Amino acid sequence: MDQPLTENARILKVQLSILVCLQEQDGKINYQRKQIKSLKEKIEAEDEKLWEQREALDGRKRELEQLKKERHGVELSFKEKQALIQKLGGQLFEVKTNAAYNTLSSEINQHKQENSLLEERALEMMMAEDDLLAGIAQAEKVLAGEEQREAALKDEIQREISNWEKEIDDLQAQWKISSQEVKPVYLERYCRLRDAKGGRAVVKIENDICDGCRMAIRPQAVIELQKYRELLCCDNCARILYVE
Ligand SMILES: [Zn+2]
Repeated sequence: MDQPLTENARILKVQLSILVCLQEQDGKINYQRKQIKSLKEKIEAEDEKLWEQREALDGRKRELEQLKKERHGVELSFKEKQALIQKLGGQLFEVKTNAAYNTLSSEINQHKQENSLLEERALEMMMAEDDLLAGIAQAEKVLAGEEQREAALKDEIQREISNWEKEIDDLQAQWKISSQEVKPVYLERYCRLRDAKGGRAVVKIENDICDGCRMAIRPQAVIELQKYRELLCCDNCARILYVE
């Protein structure tokens, strides 16, 4: 039954096999690009994680500064009150009546009570500062470790990306050489279909079914295809068809 192929049919058969080859290379290139993309996303996720840690650390440092400022305010009030108590204490010797003495003395006591509260408050703040400082030191240590780990990971990922990029360059160079052997009109059709059909531009027919869209192919078309008279495309999905 098998008749020898004509010269034109033989040429078309070779053209189709080159297109299949180009498609395999495009598939690899696409896969490697996806790998690179996911590696870059991994780096971004790591950067994001570290950025959040740095932000949290900065937040605690700002909290510490705020606390110090507030404590200085409290200490200032304490000193002012202390001076006032001293001044009022001096006036105690100048008052003429018992009533005035009692009034002044109770005013002094009031200030003293307030000052002891201020002193207590300043002490609490100092303790809170110490806690914050210890927390910051610990967080800085953790962050430094994380930064070191991330830098090493980034180096490793960057090397991996460079390897993929090198492979893509090689594949693209091969692709270019192979594509020069394809008729421009076929190549143009292939590229258009590849970009429109998720990388699958050339599909084989198996059991009279298009492997691209799973629709049945006219038996006559299958026979035509086996004779390689012309480039045939699926009526349904428009992909270029071939038989093995
Ligand atoms: Zn189809």
